Amino acid sequence: MSHSNPCIRCGACCAYFRVSFYWGETTAHPDGTVPIELTEPVSPYYVAMRGTNQAKKRCVALAGEVGQEVNCTIYAARSSSCHECQAGDERCNRARRAWGMPEMDAQGVIQKVCQKVCDTNDAANPQGTFRAID
Ligand code: SF4
Ligand code: SF4
Repeated sequence: MSHSNPCIRCGACCAYFRVSFYWGETTAHPDGTVPIELTEPVSPYYVAMRGTNQAKKRCVALAGEVGQEVNCTIYAARSSSCHECQAGDERCNRARRAWGMPEMDAQGVIQKVCQKVCDTNDAANPQGTFRAID
């Protein structure tokens, strides 16, 4: 069984949200880690990762192809906002849906959803709840 990080084959959240955080997390502060040159100011106290403060978002630190193989080129130095998006959480799945990828659970297991079942008034599924099928 593979225990690899599902984010390596995704990257949707890095190319969907504006990734902003307190400027003190940048290298402009003695304790900051995020390279200041990879950010842009969005308010007097907040910066955003370059590339995420625009209509078509993609973080400048993201390498690779979304949905194929990606990596964060500043992984060890990434911001608290980046840490907060966890595989399988609500924001993760919002980004994945936007990129046309299936949702996943907190273990990184892809949730197979049959749209046909969800869209029909199935007597066995009266609430219209998503059901995973093989
Ligand atoms: S947290 Fe979710 S959306 Fe972000 S890279 Fe990982 S699997 Fe993809
Ligand atoms: S810094 Fe890394 S983890 Fe954060 S949005 Fe950019 S590519 Fe994603």
